[in-house]
Amino acid sequence: MSKEVLDEALAISRELKEQLKYYREMGIGDIGGSVLATESAPAAYLKSPPSQGASAGALVDAQVSWAASLERPGAQGPSGEIQAVLFGDIAAANQQPGLRSRASPLTIESRNESLEAIREDLGDCQRCKLHEHRRTIVFGEGNPRAKLFFVGEGPGAEEDATGRPFVGRAGQLLDKIIAAIGLKREDVYIANIVKCRPPGNRTPERDEVETCEPFLFRQTACIKPLVIVALGSPAFQCLLRTREPITRARGQWRDLNGIRVMPTFHPAFLLRSPDKKREVWEDMKKVRDYLNSK
Ligand code: SF4
Repeated sequence: MSKEVLDEALAISRELKEQLKYYREMGIGDIGGSVLATESAPAAYLKSPPSQGASAGALVDAQVSWAASLERPGAQGPSGEIQAVLFGDIAAANQQPGLRSRASPLTIESRNESLEAIREDLGDCQRCKLHEHRRTIVFGEGNPRAKLFFVGEGPGAEEDATGRPFVGRAGQLLDKIIAAIGLKREDVYIANIVKCRPPGNRTPERDEVETCEPFLFRQTACIKPLVIVALGSPAFQCLLRTREPITRARGQWRDLNGIRVMPTFHPAFLLRSPDKKREVWEDMKKVRDYLNSK
């Protein structure tokens, strides 16, 4: 093989690697029928070191400017009425039978129990191997009667240290997203599909998800939210029993036993790809408008 051909092959290989990396970061696991065994974007992005906490004033300013910055030119600012967004069609859940065939536990776990009872049942959980390296179980927190439930992938380092979900940089961004739709963190409920931090913030493995998710579904059945916002591929795919990538699903309403599910990008992903904030803002406007219509 000539040097020229070899150089070209190497260049193509590098380009292909970058392309695959990009797809992985976007949460795309299947290309042309092949499965890319990899961690998802949110897991990778949660590895980013947390920033210093912002002052309350700065946070409020940031919350206002976050929404303002995402409005189209000419639209009213967030202090006025934010431009309404027409609902798209409510797409039927795009489930892929056979990929994840187990029934939604929500149908079998719906029972009258309190969040405290669920937490008590969880106990000092050692049901899956994630217990080995965790410092704290991150059960979830928020309004037990929340209309809006945010579901993420799993705790990161700060969450593991504090026992609270979404308190790192991604959490600060989630706070801004919540504020941008006129709510406070204490109005909503926030939890993850696994309650213990995966080592190195890797994506939770299937057996870990399957072991832990009944607690998430019991929390959901207890809270009875109107809307679940699924943050990132792992949360979306767990809730909807699908392998559809978040890039394709985001912004489209889905249904989980009568609860509307809005798939959107994980805030940690937005920290790496701020250009995607507009898409999340469009998704969150749909959520806001639906909640306001109730
Ligand atoms: S991730 Fe869930 S199932 Fe696994 S040990 Fe933690 S609480 Fe238990």
